Amino acid sequence: MYYIGIDIGATNTRIAVADEGGRILKRIRFSSPHEGDENTVAEVILEKLRSEFAQYLDRVKSVGIGTIGPVDLRRGMVVNTPNLGIPTFHLVKPLSESLKRPVYMLNDCVAAVWGERRFGAARGVDNAVYITISTGIGGGVIVNGALLLGKDGNAHEIGHIVVDYKYRLRCGCGGYGHWEGYASGSGIPRFAKYIAENEELSPEEQRSPLYELALAGGLRSEILYREARRGDAFAKRVVEEVTRINIAGVASVINVYDPEVVTIGGSIALRNPDLVIEPIVREAPRNVITRAPRIEATPLGDDAVLYGAIALAMEPPETLLRMLQQAI
Ligand SMILES: [Zn+2]
Repeated sequence: MYYIGIDIGATNTRIAVADEGGRILKRIRFSSPHEGDENTVAEVILEKLRSEFAQYLDRVKSVGIGTIGPVDLRRGMVVNTPNLGIPTFHLVKPLSESLKRPVYMLNDCVAAVWGERRFGAARGVDNAVYITISTGIGGGVIVNGALLLGKDGNAHEIGHIVVDYKYRLRCGCGGYGHWEGYASGSGIPRFAKYIAENEELSPEEQRSPLYELALAGGLRSEILYREARRGDAFAKRVVEEVTRINIAGVASVINVYDPEVVTIGGSIALRNPDLVIEPIVREAPRNVITRAPRIEATPLGDDAVLYGAIALAMEPPETLLRMLQQAI
């Protein structure tokens, strides 16, 4: 038997087929549709499954999806997502009716921690947290073996934890002082601008060409971490401030959930493990009251959500099945 895993991101959608051991036999990637109606995303996925995975479809046992949110798991939909041109769309109903197989979906980071437990760094562990530091910041959590979902499936919007009451930076969601508003791909240029405008800087920091770039709002994460590594004084200063925010966020998550293991993924963290993950590993445990967990980069890399979707297809969590029963 085979299992299909689908990772629906704001930019790309990825589909993989895996065997019973979780080995990926084939995978494809394509641009997520940004135009259409409530059925377009499912239709595009079905078309790809029929054209690219025809040889496997007869023997597919079930399908798992990890998707950008917000989600409504009872209705099997994505609802009002700010990240795709199509804000609201059906997934579970059109796919399950057409494929005649069980289809399960989860928010992407929630799927990722489920994958971490089956395939990654949380194997054999009942308490685990997955954190993504990317364009946005999000998380997935398993407590005492139960995958936490929340009332609609949108638990762990950890990017909107308030990490700073002092800075008055506004997050993309409209709130103030949120972790994502400072340390994510979307937040870093605005935080760098704030630092350039408001913080006391040394003459060396002000002489950096990045200081001007930051004032113009153009200091993106790729440039920031590259130049910090090269020794630029202003870049190092901003990285230091971003690191403090990341430590506050991760420490808060550890204090709330008491995990055995915390894995960190997402493009910003995975591309800059030395400047993003290592300081968190070093400093976050000093800021927690619980017994310190193991903290590490996800061994699943960019495939964390995809493996999560496969794990979901292989073994849908009890908490999800219970939620779906209540919907009937
Ligand atoms: Zn926010």
